[in-house]
Amino acid sequence: MFETLTETEPERPPSPVAALVAAPRLPTPLEERSARRRPRFPIAPERRAFMKRHFPEASEEEWNDWRWQARHRIRTLAQLERLFVLSDDERAAVARLSGGLPVGITPYYASLMGREDPQEPLRRTHIPVGDEFVTTPGEAADPLGEDHDTVVPGLVHRYPDRVLFLVTGFCSTYCRYCTRSRVVGHAGGEYHFSLAQWEKALAWIEDHPQIRDVLLSGGDPLTLGEDRLDWLLGRLRRIRHVEFVRIGTKVPVVLPQRITRELLRVLRRHRPIWMSLHFTHPAELTPETAEACSRLADAGVPLGSQTVLLRGINDDAAVLKRLFHGLLRLRVRPYYLYQCDPIRGSAHFRTPVDKGLELMAALRGHTTGYAVPTFVVDAPGGGGKIPLLPDPVVGRDGADLLLRNFEGGVFRYPDPEGQLGRQLDGERR
Ligand code: SF4
Repeated sequence: MFETLTETEPERPPSPVAALVAAPRLPTPLEERSARRRPRFPIAPERRAFMKRHFPEASEEEWNDWRWQARHRIRTLAQLERLFVLSDDERAAVARLSGGLPVGITPYYASLMGREDPQEPLRRTHIPVGDEFVTTPGEAADPLGEDHDTVVPGLVHRYPDRVLFLVTGFCSTYCRYCTRSRVVGHAGGEYHFSLAQWEKALAWIEDHPQIRDVLLSGGDPLTLGEDRLDWLLGRLRRIRHVEFVRIGTKVPVVLPQRITRELLRVLRRHRPIWMSLHFTHPAELTPETAEACSRLADAGVPLGSQTVLLRGINDDAAVLKRLFHGLLRLRVRPYYLYQCDPIRGSAHFRTPVDKGLELMAALRGHTTGYAVPTFVVDAPGGGGKIPLLPDPVVGRDGADLLLRNFEGGVFRYPDPEGQLGRQLDGERR
């Protein structure tokens, strides 16, 4: 049986496609030995205290069971009130939600949030406030124009050699700034994720030999059950021109218990698989997340992180440095720092673009190059990602190009045939 989690039905009836799913490969002796050596999933002392206070009936096994975490997500005002001292603004905003992006927070992730302080960073990213209902100029439900580039439902083709495959509308937690809030979390919403839809998307990819890279996203692909994921990855890997698959996921951050041996077996079977994780703040760097990342890295999955720049949450060089240094220790390469997309009701999250450049100037050269992601604006209307860096070109002096380094010093590079910087000289004259 294919297993997945959806907003409406946790289980599905048996599918004839199950017959197509390969029997699970038996672990090798080496894998068995390393599995025996690996400790059970850790539970940090703060998490134990949280469990005892809010889920006293749960056993450690249940807490560490990702399905238990998914079933016990915090979704209603009453559940939020049980865990947090809500502000009037939060309470009114949650009561007002209807039909849009729902609330959904795993107990594990809720345990990282501030109980009393509505300004606590992780809490701000997941509990709605009144500003979410204010639409400002330039905002849109689909700011990146993904619907325009959708070639079959759930398959977005914008760049020549790759596609974005939206495989589920389900996430274990819902980020209030989500670019795809128009499609995720809605039972029976705009996209109906189904096997028939997957088949259409697979057929399109098969028919387009220029597609060498498929990014699975949604929703969160790691909320699919192993059998469904195994089947989908198997089908993609059988397409000769698909060189590798990427998975975009927040699961290791908000539901690290999901990184089970069974899941790792599936990922190993279909490698190369790359993974883009979605970290936001150093408060997410916990022993549990470290275990999840370690398991993925040990399974040969290269890990990167995409971080959305959020006002008052992570728009601070010291906060970002702590996050990016922590990620490198977990073998996760900070990959993109995103300017927050102008989805409806996101003005309170967005910083001026200058802020991103200021942060890049504070990082670049001041710390390990691997710890410095690329700052990008995803151009509204489907223009794609545009990288931005503080401009280091000062101008020219004769045959020399003048460049500013990370400390503000100006240096010469002999470049007699170059044109770079000449325009600046002209502007100065
Ligand atoms: S996990 Fe990703 S897809 Fe899901 S709500 Fe957050 S940003 Fe959106």
